[in-house]
Amino acid sequence: MFKYYTILLLISPLISAADNPDFSYDNIKEWGVKNPICNNGKSQSPIKLSILTSETNVPDIGDVPPIVFRNYNIQLKNLEMLNNGRTVQIKIPNSEEPPYIEGALLTNKYKAISLHFHWGSVTTRGSEHLIDDLRYDAELHIVHQNMAYDPKEALEKPDGLAVLGFVIKKDIIVPESTGLRKIFADVDRVRYYSSNVTLSSSLALQEIFDTINTSKFFTYQGSLTTPPCSESVSWFVFSKPLMLPLLDFLKLWNIYDENGYAIKNNYRPIQNREGRSVYYRF
Ligand SMILES: [Zn+2]
Repeated sequence: MFKYYTILLLISPLISAADNPDFSYDNIKEWGVKNPICNNGKSQSPIKLSILTSETNVPDIGDVPPIVFRNYNIQLKNLEMLNNGRTVQIKIPNSEEPPYIEGALLTNKYKAISLHFHWGSVTTRGSEHLIDDLRYDAELHIVHQNMAYDPKEALEKPDGLAVLGFVIKKDIIVPESTGLRKIFADVDRVRYYSSNVTLSSSLALQEIFDTINTSKFFTYQGSLTTPPCSESVSWFVFSKPLMLPLLDFLKLWNIYDENGYAIKNNYRPIQNREGRSVYYRF
């Protein structure tokens, strides 16, 4: 009997780890158990953004230079979209000519590696960043990695990653960007956990934001908004929202996790700014 219980005690952590391979939005405080920086970091994201509390003059630089988008016009073919149980993610494969960004306050080139969404529910809004105290309905992140580093290094260096954040507003019928239209044509197909499909259309990353002016944005140093919460992200959050029709939000609200529950409110609460500078380019 003793042996039986000993074995059970030994394997029980493995069982619970298998049940919960990543993290949950139901117990955000527990993210810090494995990744203490999630709870005690000083450069965490998301934060509140406001033109009133931002600086427009960068020491030794002056105005924030624009972001330069390179290869964002290249049509990426056969992109894979995945339901990972937390969000809908599109991977951007390595290539000879990767889409990348430079400029602004970046000191290197950052290639796009993936994009994903955060959303609320039928009754709640789910953007991560707040702009002038407003939580938008959803938020899209395009994640970029410093081309000077390998993926593991990028998570460990303060200048390892750069993320473009687009807040998204819902309306009944709205002028949707070409890119969002292409993506949402296939979102239904990843409704169930671990579904992995190839996008029906090719996609150029610039098509995602062809409806807004990207010259106006907030930028600050922050973190991943999911574990391991690495403080390695140069954030760029655009002040003008992308628009998404209600029908596409219905698709997001019907994406299911590994337990068969609709994924909702997959956003992290606002973190302390901790005296960080936030710059605004207008
Ligand atoms: Zn994100």
